[in-house]
Amino acid sequence: MAGYRWWSNEVPEHVSKPCKTLLHKFSEAGGEDDEGYTINPYKGCAHRCVYCYATYEWSPDFYDVVIAKSNAHEVLLHDILKEGRRNVTNVLISSATDCYQPAEGKYKLTRKCIEILQRLEIPYTIITKSSTVLRDLDLHRRYKERCSIIWSLTTVDENLKRIIEPNASPARSILKAVRVFSSHGVRVGINLDPIIPGLNDGEEQLRETVEKAVDAGARFVGSAVLRLRSDIWIRLRRLLESEGMYKALRKIEEVYFRYPIKMGYYYLAHPRYVSEKQSYVEMLVKRCGGSYGLAQEDTQHEPCYVKASQLSSNQRRLTLYV
Ligand code: SF4
Repeated sequence: MAGYRWWSNEVPEHVSKPCKTLLHKFSEAGGEDDEGYTINPYKGCAHRCVYCYATYEWSPDFYDVVIAKSNAHEVLLHDILKEGRRNVTNVLISSATDCYQPAEGKYKLTRKCIEILQRLEIPYTIITKSSTVLRDLDLHRRYKERCSIIWSLTTVDENLKRIIEPNASPARSILKAVRVFSSHGVRVGINLDPIIPGLNDGEEQLRETVEKAVDAGARFVGSAVLRLRSDIWIRLRRLLESEGMYKALRKIEEVYFRYPIKMGYYYLAHPRYVSEKQSYVEMLVKRCGGSYGLAQEDTQHEPCYVKASQLSSNQRRLTLYV
């Protein structure tokens, strides 16, 4: 992969820098119910997922320089008080980085931000591809009525995972973390996102991922099909070519470019493909006794505002708020 700087096992440079704002509001077009807040204690990400939505041309160092927002917790407190504590009903951590990437071991900014949210009694949802969230088991466990943890798990095929998400935690570590948090009564779920044609979309692959996740204790599972932006397509195509994965390459071309549908900067997968995959995952989840989607309300927990269909679009939109 020489020449493709994004793909590497190298540890990114860590830079500590104060930020001016941290809390950002978003709302899904046309739906007040979907309003929420998000924070990103870091900018950049060490996980180097090939399909990452948070890598725009204006952040070319996304994978190579991780900026730790050194005053994140202080700014968060300030932002919440400015917004009005009562208005901040829930916070998504994080939408445009991974809040439990290796830098968290050094800076502990996610932990400090969570301590602020807990002190102010604000519910939160963590999204991560890392098992290092286990370090904060004590923190989340004592707040289990008001927090949810969602692991983004695209496959349990470790070889494929190493190719498409080279520095994220292995699936077995994520499933172990799901089991531990679940056994402590924390509300945990899995987001099977993105489903990528020809890579992780086979019926057996999806079945194994869903069954292992629910068996580990995931109470809900969401899913979304990849939206293809030009920079994502360049990375993906180069990766598949270099790995000799031409069958997957042809499948992607067929699903996205045979009858191209463009929305903003994104090519969408053919609607029939999306419908087939989503329905299949939904059927699998329900068959295992889980709930499909990421917005399951129950009587014991504060509602989780993240919706399966909303999540990938949020990730796309919220890259503005790094
Ligand atoms: S973990 Fe998330 S933010 Fe980090 S590279 Fe992967 S998709 Fe991007």
